[in-house]
Amino acid sequence: MSDKTDALSPKPPSEKFSIRCPRLGHQINFKYCEIENSGIPCFKALDCWYTYFDVHKFLEDKLSKEDFKKVFIDKGQPKVLSLLDLIEKAKAKKGRKS
Ligand code: SF4
Repeated sequence: MSDKTDALSPKPPSEKFSIRCPRLGHQINFKYCEIENSGIPCFKALDCWYTYFDVHKFLEDKLSKEDFKKVFIDKGQPKVLSLLDLIEKAKAKKGRKS
């Protein structure tokens, strides 16, 4: 029987460990990803770090339920929907003026 386990570490790697950030295009450590979005994690943190440690559990424990949901579940609407929303608002505003 093997003692090998596939369990991920519950803690992030040390700050010396870095990965290539797909958004910035250079090496980065988890400390940055953890606070990238005005003090809350980057919305891609789960995707970028899941193979290195149990980032889901780590951030779920660290963040409030609302912040976790805001960052990783309600990632915001796609830009095209935001743009359509802005156009509709502008039309409604113009309609009220005339
Ligand atoms: S979590 Fe965000 S900031 Fe960090 S490496 Fe991934 S894309 Fe870059």
